[in-house]
Amino acid sequence: MSLIVQKYGGSSVADAESIKRVARRVVETKRAGHQVVVVVSAMGDTTDELLDLAADITAAPPSREMDILLSSGERMSMALLAMAIHELGESAQSFTGSQAGMITDAIHGKARIIEVSPQRVQESLDAGHVGIVAGFQGMSRESRDITTMGRGGSDTTAVALAAALHADACEIYTDVDGVFTADPRVVKTARKIDEISSEDMLEMAAAGSKVLNLRSVEYARRFGVKLHVRSSFSQLEGTWVIPDPSDVITIQEGEPLEQPIISGVAHDSSEAKLTITGVPDIPGKAAEIFNLIAEAGTNIDMIVQNVSDETKTTNISFTLPADDGPKSTEILQAHQERIGFESLAYDEQVGKVSLIGGGMRNHPGVSARFFTALRDAGINIGLISTSEIRVSVITAAADLEKAVCAIHTAFGLDADQEATVYAGTGR
Ligand code: ADP
Ligand code: ASP
Ligand code: MG
Repeated sequence: MSLIVQKYGGSSVADAESIKRVARRVVETKRAGHQVVVVVSAMGDTTDELLDLAADITAAPPSREMDILLSSGERMSMALLAMAIHELGESAQSFTGSQAGMITDAIHGKARIIEVSPQRVQESLDAGHVGIVAGFQGMSRESRDITTMGRGGSDTTAVALAAALHADACEIYTDVDGVFTADPRVVKTARKIDEISSEDMLEMAAAGSKVLNLRSVEYARRFGVKLHVRSSFSQLEGTWVIPDPSDVITIQEGEPLEQPIISGVAHDSSEAKLTITGVPDIPGKAAEIFNLIAEAGTNIDMIVQNVSDETKTTNISFTLPADDGPKSTEILQAHQERIGFESLAYDEQVGKVSLIGGGMRNHPGVSARFFTALRDAGINIGLISTSEIRVSVITAAADLEKAVCAIHTAFGLDADQEATVYAGTGR
């Protein structure tokens, strides 16, 4: 008997009707002769609402309590889905992350998986039930506390369970028909991608395409889990994310043998830009700065240092999650004298747009076309960074969507028809 892991995101379980619809889909899969493990997210915008609620009570919620609060969203969904499946005449048992053996480190809010021991889920399957697992949460053995894995973490729960249970398929159900060449909420003519290498998907996710959580793509790649991203609102075939691009990508008869140059355009409006001006241009200053940022637990992304001027000072700019902005500026300010910089400029009104494609490494002219598209759209560029398979720039927040559309068109990615967005608020 084959085992299928299905993950349903927040918009797929937003209300009672949606939960019943998901239950029908799960039951269909079960009755087709498969064992089914379902991972659920919190209903609709529940996680955001819980965050708002906590913010109404305190500006500095204890992280332990925050994780208990946030983990409750997924627990509501799992119990309700189990009830809906019972109502359809099949049996289901729901499990919290800790019951399902999701063992993490003790870092609240961004816990990492240490071990997955889903014995209880396996026993439940063997006894003929559908196993339902609350996404995005686990438990630390060290602190014996409930942890959560960061926004979008249910994708990672699903992949980790699929790997641990040696599932035959891992299906990520969401509110669009798959992974598109850009966010279909922003680019109406975005095209669905049938198959994408995990290398390109990793870059898309890292650059802000939240359709798949970055860590889930990393995990899937490492453990060779093939992902099928698809809509819970349609029966259409979605996007396959293939773990090893060098040997697994399948080519249909008549299709060109070379992979497309560009996979898609990703954008991210959750970042901010921090510029440190007048940094003494002597060895060790960048190390001092980035050690402090690391101490603050902040992941940074694009880093640019100017050529030093006649005053023998330089400017260093980098991007960081806006959520981490206050903490990072505070810690730098506290060490201003020691580092010897002149001033800090912090800007949250920025956006990042990235072009992604493994094919660009051996195709000249990609950057030229990218920057020409931005020029023609009258968009000014804040920072630039590139890798072998990505070009990213920072723009003003107000220009972000225009930039995404301009680049999408410039690379011939526009489809003839509009993409469907079935539900969700895009929050
Ligand atoms: P879920 O709640 O199912 O996890 P998410 O909201 O996390 O869903 O992710 C789905 C959303 O991701 C889509 O509604 C879409 O707006 C957004 N998105 C961003 N980039 C892309 C892309 N390249 N392809 C598809 N969707 C994308
Ligand atoms: N509910 C969590 C969030 O909104 C986790 C998830 O949906 O993947 O981020
Ligand atoms: Mg998600």
